[in-house]
Amino acid sequence: MQTKTVINPFESALKNFDLAADVIHLEDNIRNHIRLPERELTVHFPVRLDSGNIISVTGFRVQHSTARGPGKGGIRYHPDVNIDEVRALASWMTWKCAVVGIPFGGAKGGVVIDPKKMSIGELERVTRRFTSEIAFMIGPDKDIPAPDVYTNSQTMAWMMDTYSMISGRTVLGVVTGKPISVGGSQGRNEATAQGTIFTIEKAARKLGIDLNGARVAVQGFGNAGAIAARLIFDLGARIIAVSDSKGGIINLAGLNPTEVSIHKELTGSVVGFKGSDPISNQELLELNCDILIPAALENVITEENAGDIRAKIIAEAANGPVTPEADLILHDKGIFVIPDILANAGGVTVSYFEWVQDNYSFFWKTKDIRNYLREVMDDSFDAVIALSEKHKVHNRTGAYAHAVSKVAEAIRLRGVFP
Ligand code: GLU
Repeated sequence: MQTKTVINPFESALKNFDLAADVIHLEDNIRNHIRLPERELTVHFPVRLDSGNIISVTGFRVQHSTARGPGKGGIRYHPDVNIDEVRALASWMTWKCAVVGIPFGGAKGGVVIDPKKMSIGELERVTRRFTSEIAFMIGPDKDIPAPDVYTNSQTMAWMMDTYSMISGRTVLGVVTGKPISVGGSQGRNEATAQGTIFTIEKAARKLGIDLNGARVAVQGFGNAGAIAARLIFDLGARIIAVSDSKGGIINLAGLNPTEVSIHKELTGSVVGFKGSDPISNQELLELNCDILIPAALENVITEENAGDIRAKIIAEAANGPVTPEADLILHDKGIFVIPDILANAGGVTVSYFEWVQDNYSFFWKTKDIRNYLREVMDDSFDAVIALSEKHKVHNRTGAYAHAVSKVAEAIRLRGVFP
């Protein structure tokens, strides 16, 4: 049996940070300071199941940096969540907010549960108790959670309500990604995918690839993957394969992503969709295609399979799908990678718009959100590519160099307390 090396995402995050810190000649004191998160909380709490049994649940909230503003980042529900993964995700939020120039630091949370095995009532009780455990650490001007893997707008409504009950007043701006009727923003649900598609449009134009008829493979069919597939299909691209945690499907003539979503809604997976053939997640990644969108979890493209990737563009809708070792191989092969901290930054960008709207109690139209988002994504893409070309490094190091410089500047200007 082949043993798979376990890759620690926080070590990968630090490797990427160090590459950029070298490129921008970052001074040692700042380098040592921002390698590690500012604040980390681990909580263990009881939750009553529908059966009446009580289980003990572990959760985390990590604030990596608040140098540029309050902490910002999602909460993930997954059985494999661990502190190093949350540290990595929190640091990626710091760099992501800096890349797109929104005034937030980086944070992330995780709860170690298998949400697919829990009822709605159990999920609500987990969410409310977890929120109360981290309540002293979050707040609209302290640290603002949002959805991530296996959490959604309903989760955010429960978090907002719980925090508000504790505070004795309704605090809309404590979380983003809420339903529209309780302070959510137009366009937030599709924001991550929309941002990814805006960056793909820029990359395709740069490389002379016509999106009309381009072959696209999407790994992961959740909020980011399913909506990205639909948006790029609407631009005329051909979705040749998609997958989820249960497996993948392929049809070289093209899949209709809206019909695949309906199938997944009904059956719980994309697998078995009519007119498609089965394919593994691994095979999907190695397909001959123009654009590959990893939209699930970390470490799916490693030094073991990077040499077999045949896409022309990889757009990272997921956080951390490519390891630093794989980056070098992909770069040598001439594959154009749009790194996660740029490609999926549309989500947190519209989270920022939501937070601004909540604080002003004044809500914007869909077209305004879309125009602002496109401007942010286009400008950030140009800045990252310009830096990558200037320093002759791959796009991830260019993106980190851009982000780390901004965070370092904030740290320098703020100075050392006391
Ligand atoms: N979870 C998303 C991300 O990884 C969104 C975070 C947010 O909106 O704060 O970027």
